[in-house]
Amino acid sequence: MTIERGRFAPTPSGALHVGSARTALASALAAWRNGGRWALRVEDLDVVRSSTRPIEAMYEDLAWIGLAWDEGPGADEPHRPYRQSARAGLYREALDVLRARGLVYPCGCSRKEVEAASQAPHGAEPVYPGTCRGRDPDDVVRDAAARGRAAAWRFRVDRSRGDVTVSDLVAGRYTQDVARAVGDFVVARADGVAAYQFAVVVDDITMEVTEVVRGDDLLASTPRQVLLYEAFGAAPPRWMHLPLVLGADGERLAKRLGAMGLRELRERGHRPERLRASLLASLGVSDDGGSLRGLARRFDPAAVPRTSPRWDVTREILDAS
Ligand code: GLU
Repeated sequence: MTIERGRFAPTPSGALHVGSARTALASALAAWRNGGRWALRVEDLDVVRSSTRPIEAMYEDLAWIGLAWDEGPGADEPHRPYRQSARAGLYREALDVLRARGLVYPCGCSRKEVEAASQAPHGAEPVYPGTCRGRDPDDVVRDAAARGRAAAWRFRVDRSRGDVTVSDLVAGRYTQDVARAVGDFVVARADGVAAYQFAVVVDDITMEVTEVVRGDDLLASTPRQVLLYEAFGAAPPRWMHLPLVLGADGERLAKRLGAMGLRELRERGHRPERLRASLLASLGVSDDGGSLRGLARRFDPAAVPRTSPRWDVTREILDAS
């Protein structure tokens, strides 16, 4: 029998805000609802050179609301390492697998060139027109080098595939024709760093993650991830995309907006029990003061409201909007 395993995979950018605390809690409940394990993975691909301070601040915030991960930094580490910045070797091996299967190809186009060639409406994600798809890979790499660039690697999306459907336990059915919506997408950037959707899929497969909970700003990239699961011949996890928490003014809680951070709430004397109860209620679980593992038995993803809650800092509650 496979163990159920959920994970919280934050990009550390400072103290946690209420929205990320809600994602953390929901991911723990999803992992524990059938007695599974909960892992913490630090998605620091883009913050390699920054200090470890935001990561430590995040650990303190999670501890403050009573969340302790079963697997991850400082705990059991069956699938170490748990920081993406230390997993580059795994991403390279995974890229080699796709390369051997002819599923990726090098691309020397700059972002500007892709935007200029894309037919996508202004402001939308550019659709890669396939400029380097049919070219000789060695030529692409050589031409890029002659322009002082390195090549990125793109995943070859099967153009006859059509709609990819994600059955999300919270968001419902989500469908996207990846070839039309984004085209062949980047899996390894020109600077050698793995692209978000590639790293996340490689990590979730190698860490044997079965429950993925995150903000619904990432729903649109999930069909790309489904294609990657298929390319690796791996079973996809259960997806749960949560509507993002908004501020009282209806704006998204920006990660860097200090006023919404747990740290500031703590410093102002707010009580973690109150925040925990409010977060649980927003996920459809009433807090009886018991352990989170026990409460998780009552968590039902289908009961999570499909609208964004608003965080009212003065009343310290999350309101359904
Ligand atoms: N690192 C992403 C974030 O902080 C989440 C990625 C995921 O859960 O798949 O928004």
